[in-house]
Amino acid sequence: MCRRLWYGVCGRVSEMEKKLTCIGCPLGCSLTVTMDGMGEGVAAVSGNTCPKGEAYARKEMTNPTRIVTSAVRVENGCAPMVSCKTKADIPKGRIFDVTAALAGLRVAAPVHIGDVILPDAAGTGVDIVATKNVEAAV
Ligand code: SF4
Repeated sequence: MCRRLWYGVCGRVSEMEKKLTCIGCPLGCSLTVTMDGMGEGVAAVSGNTCPKGEAYARKEMTNPTRIVTSAVRVENGCAPMVSCKTKADIPKGRIFDVTAALAGLRVAAPVHIGDVILPDAAGTGVDIVATKNVEAAV
Protein backbone atom coordinates (compact mmCIF):
# COMPACT_ATOMS: atom_id res chain seq x y z
CA MET A 1 0.00 0.00 0.00
CA CYS A 2 1.39 3.36 -0.99
CA ARG A 3 0.17 6.80 0.07
CA ARG A 4 1.42 9.99 -1.52
CA LEU A 5 1.15 13.31 0.25
CA TRP A 6 1.17 16.42 -1.89
CA TYR A 7 2.14 19.80 -0.48
CA GLY A 8 2.24 23.31 -1.92
CA VAL A 9 0.92 24.66 -5.18
CA CYS A 10 3.87 23.72 -7.38
CA GLY A 11 2.74 20.09 -7.69
CA ARG A 12 6.06 18.75 -6.40
CA VAL A 13 5.97 15.49 -4.43
CA SER A 14 7.43 16.36 -1.07
CA GLU A 15 6.78 13.15 0.82
CA MET A 16 5.72 9.59 0.13
CA GLU A 17 5.02 6.84 2.61
CA LYS A 18 5.06 3.10 2.09
CA LYS A 19 4.05 0.31 4.46
CA LEU A 20 6.18 -2.83 4.75
CA THR A 21 6.20 -5.86 7.01
CA CYS A 22 9.67 -6.69 8.29
CA ILE A 23 10.74 -10.27 7.53
CA GLY A 24 13.74 -10.19 9.86
CA CYS A 25 12.10 -12.32 12.56
CA PRO A 26 8.70 -13.83 13.43
CA LEU A 27 7.57 -10.61 15.15
CA GLY A 28 6.86 -9.10 11.72
CA CYS A 29 6.92 -5.44 12.69
CA SER A 30 4.80 -3.09 10.55
CA LEU A 31 7.19 -0.54 9.11
CA THR A 32 6.39 2.86 7.68
CA VAL A 33 8.97 4.15 5.22
CA THR A 34 9.00 7.82 4.36
CA MET A 35 10.63 8.56 1.03
CA ASP A 36 12.31 11.85 0.26
CA GLY A 37 12.54 13.96 -2.86
CA MET A 38 10.86 12.21 -5.78
CA GLY A 39 10.70 8.94 -3.90
CA GLU A 40 14.23 7.83 -4.75
CA GLY A 41 15.71 7.82 -1.26
CA VAL A 42 14.57 6.85 2.23
CA ALA A 43 14.11 9.78 4.60
CA ALA A 44 12.91 7.85 7.66
CA VAL A 45 11.75 4.46 8.89
CA SER A 46 9.40 3.95 11.82
CA GLY A 47 7.64 1.00 13.44
CA ASN A 48 10.76 -1.15 13.73
CA THR A 49 11.55 -2.75 17.07
CA CYS A 50 15.23 -3.24 16.30
CA PRO A 51 17.86 -1.85 13.86
CA LYS A 52 17.43 -4.82 11.52
CA GLY A 53 14.01 -3.46 10.58
CA GLU A 54 15.39 -0.12 9.44
CA ALA A 55 18.16 -1.81 7.46
CA TYR A 56 15.61 -4.13 5.81
CA ALA A 57 13.30 -1.23 4.91
CA ARG A 58 16.08 0.87 3.42
CA LYS A 59 17.36 -2.03 1.32
CA GLU A 60 13.87 -3.10 0.26
CA MET A 61 13.04 0.39 -0.99
CA THR A 62 16.31 1.07 -2.80
CA ASN A 63 17.77 -2.30 -3.84
CA PRO A 64 15.42 -5.22 -3.10
CA THR A 65 17.11 -8.63 -3.20
CA ARG A 66 16.08 -12.18 -2.42
CA ILE A 67 17.53 -15.63 -1.77
CA VAL A 68 15.91 -17.97 -4.31
CA THR A 69 15.17 -21.58 -3.35
CA SER A 70 14.24 -24.30 -5.79
CA ALA A 71 14.88 -27.96 -6.69
CA VAL A 72 16.45 -29.60 -9.73
CA ARG A 73 16.34 -33.10 -11.15
CA VAL A 74 19.05 -35.62 -10.25
CA GLU A 75 20.19 -38.35 -12.61
CA ASN A 76 21.06 -41.75 -11.16
CA GLY A 77 20.43 -40.60 -7.61
CA CYS A 78 18.68 -42.22 -4.67
CA ALA A 79 16.21 -39.33 -4.84
CA PRO A 80 14.76 -37.74 -7.99
CA MET A 81 15.32 -34.13 -6.93
CA VAL A 82 17.81 -32.09 -4.95
CA SER A 83 16.88 -28.85 -3.19
CA CYS A 84 19.04 -25.83 -3.90
CA LYS A 85 19.31 -22.09 -3.35
CA THR A 86 21.24 -19.07 -4.47
CA LYS A 87 24.48 -18.75 -2.50
CA ALA A 88 23.69 -15.08 -1.89
CA ASP A 89 20.90 -12.56 -2.48
CA ILE A 90 20.11 -11.71 -6.09
CA PRO A 91 18.26 -8.63 -7.36
CA LYS A 92 14.51 -9.16 -7.06
CA GLY A 93 14.07 -8.35 -10.74
CA ARG A 94 16.27 -11.32 -11.73
CA ILE A 95 14.30 -14.03 -9.90
CA PHE A 96 12.45 -15.15 -13.05
CA ASP A 97 15.72 -15.39 -15.02
CA VAL A 98 17.27 -17.59 -12.34
CA THR A 99 14.26 -19.90 -12.01
CA ALA A 100 14.14 -20.21 -15.81
CA ALA A 101 17.82 -21.20 -15.83
CA LEU A 102 17.06 -23.93 -13.28
CA ALA A 103 13.96 -25.25 -15.07
CA GLY A 104 15.65 -27.74 -17.38
CA LEU A 105 18.76 -28.36 -15.32
CA ARG A 106 19.80 -31.91 -14.40
CA VAL A 107 22.70 -32.86 -12.15
CA ALA A 108 24.42 -36.20 -11.78
CA ALA A 109 24.49 -37.94 -8.41
CA PRO A 110 26.13 -37.84 -5.97
CA VAL A 111 25.33 -34.28 -4.95
CA HIS A 112 26.32 -32.88 -1.57
CA ILE A 113 25.29 -29.87 0.45
CA GLY A 114 27.23 -26.84 -0.77
CA ASP A 115 28.09 -28.28 -4.18
CA VAL A 116 27.75 -25.67 -6.94
CA ILE A 117 24.92 -26.87 -9.18
CA LEU A 118 24.91 -23.86 -11.50
CA PRO A 119 27.69 -21.24 -11.47
CA ASP A 120 26.84 -17.61 -12.22
CA ALA A 121 23.12 -18.28 -12.47
CA ALA A 122 21.60 -16.25 -15.32
CA GLY A 123 24.60 -13.94 -15.31
CA THR A 124 23.90 -12.66 -11.81
CA GLY A 125 27.37 -13.60 -10.58
CA VAL A 126 25.75 -15.78 -7.90
CA ASP A 127 26.08 -19.57 -7.83
CA ILE A 128 23.28 -22.05 -7.13
CA VAL A 129 24.28 -24.52 -4.43
CA ALA A 130 22.75 -27.79 -3.23
CA THR A 131 21.04 -27.77 0.15
CA LYS A 132 20.60 -31.55 0.42
CA ASN A 133 22.71 -34.67 -0.02
CA VAL A 134 21.62 -37.06 -2.75
CA GLU A 135 23.80 -40.14 -3.04
CA ALA A 136 24.16 -42.21 -6.19
CA ALA A 137 21.69 -45.05 -6.63
CA VAL A 138 23.20 -48.52 -6.08
S1 SF4 B 1 12.21 -4.88 13.17
FE1 SF4 B 1 13.48 -6.29 14.36
S2 SF4 B 1 12.04 -7.17 15.86
FE2 SF4 B 1 10.78 -6.25 14.23
S3 SF4 B 1 10.38 -7.94 12.76
FE3 SF4 B 1 12.22 -6.84 12.07
S4 SF4 B 1 13.93 -8.00 12.92
FE4 SF4 B 1 12.09 -8.56 14.09
